[in-house]
Amino acid sequence: MRIMRKHIYADNAATTKLDIQAFEAMKPWMLEDYGNASQPYTFSRKPKEALKQARETIAECINAQPEEIYFTSGGTESDNWAIKGIAFSNYSHRATITSAFEHHAVLHSCEAIERLGCPVAYMWPDKNGVVTPEKLEAYITDQTLLVSVMFANNELGSIQPIQDLCRIAHTHGALFHTDAVQAVGHTEVDVKQLDVDLLSASAHKFNGPKGIGFLYVRKGVTLLPYADGGAQEFGIRAGTENVASIVGMAAALKTNIETLQENQARVRSLEKALLVKMNAAGIPYVRNGGEHTLPGIISLSFDGKDGEAILHRMDLMGISISTGSACDSKNAKISHVLQALRMPESLAKGTIRISLGKDNTQEDVDEIVSSLRRIIL
Ligand code: PLP
Repeated sequence: MRIMRKHIYADNAATTKLDIQAFEAMKPWMLEDYGNASQPYTFSRKPKEALKQARETIAECINAQPEEIYFTSGGTESDNWAIKGIAFSNYSHRATITSAFEHHAVLHSCEAIERLGCPVAYMWPDKNGVVTPEKLEAYITDQTLLVSVMFANNELGSIQPIQDLCRIAHTHGALFHTDAVQAVGHTEVDVKQLDVDLLSASAHKFNGPKGIGFLYVRKGVTLLPYADGGAQEFGIRAGTENVASIVGMAAALKTNIETLQENQARVRSLEKALLVKMNAAGIPYVRNGGEHTLPGIISLSFDGKDGEAILHRMDLMGISISTGSACDSKNAKISHVLQALRMPESLAKGTIRISLGKDNTQEDVDEIVSSLRRIIL
């Protein structure tokens, strides 16, 4: 008789499991206090108050002011809004600078503003997946309007020197946006310390619900409204507030921040154990993403192998991993991220991403390595 193994989820950079406390916190706002938060009557008082509290909680988690937090439908909307909102509220020939390995939410937004006449320049990361301050210095001019560089890359986990990049942008009179979708809830993110002007985040990456996120906009930054309509979100992002999801997002972020140190230590030790076991098993691999990566994001290249075939064989063994960005998996064999690293094709094609989260265990790591051994060797 074939014994079915438990499913192992190792694709936490694609999405995460909803935190049970967040789920419980969401329920009353759908089933009991479901009033429209923007209505003036008593029945809407509680949802309005919940919205206010959620905004305060989220602001506190990233060291912002509550009125600097704008709720959106997720990371994609936050990125679109930041790029387009800045470009179109400052219609001019001043340029946006971004990197060639951003998420498509940023890259395609940049292509969209380019089509409407706003210039964009794309910086290439180094071979470790880092946009260096020197690189930005070479691109930036006093005509730069916005610099947008992600906090950490979603395929590689490589953390960018945001504080330094931000300082350079400000020295030249430019604004700075960071797509921190992979980082928020997984590492310390302090908008005041970083000194960023705009920052994108998405709840489902930090154990919150899907379809909700936020954009931090520093007080004083002018941003064109993303959606025209009602007066929600301080009049610049119309649409009835998704109170349940917003409350769930705040609860999930608060839990993750309160347990950040222990989660980081746990996930880092699983990550180390995985690599030690791979070495012990004699599996030849190259780890991508350099020295400073987010805990748990492990990009591995197997020379001469086919990453997609590895993914499907792992899937048959009950293990979910990725070949790169979830949004990319139907597209090119080699993702734009790996292309930006200028990696040899035989390595790029044989690349997978394992992303461990706080729910993974040592047994999961053992199973992942033993499955990889069977596939690779
Ligand atoms: N930015 C990055 C770095 C991401 O990894 C993702 C999702 O994979 C997004 C943006 C898009 O976020 P969402 O799925 O909330 O639209």
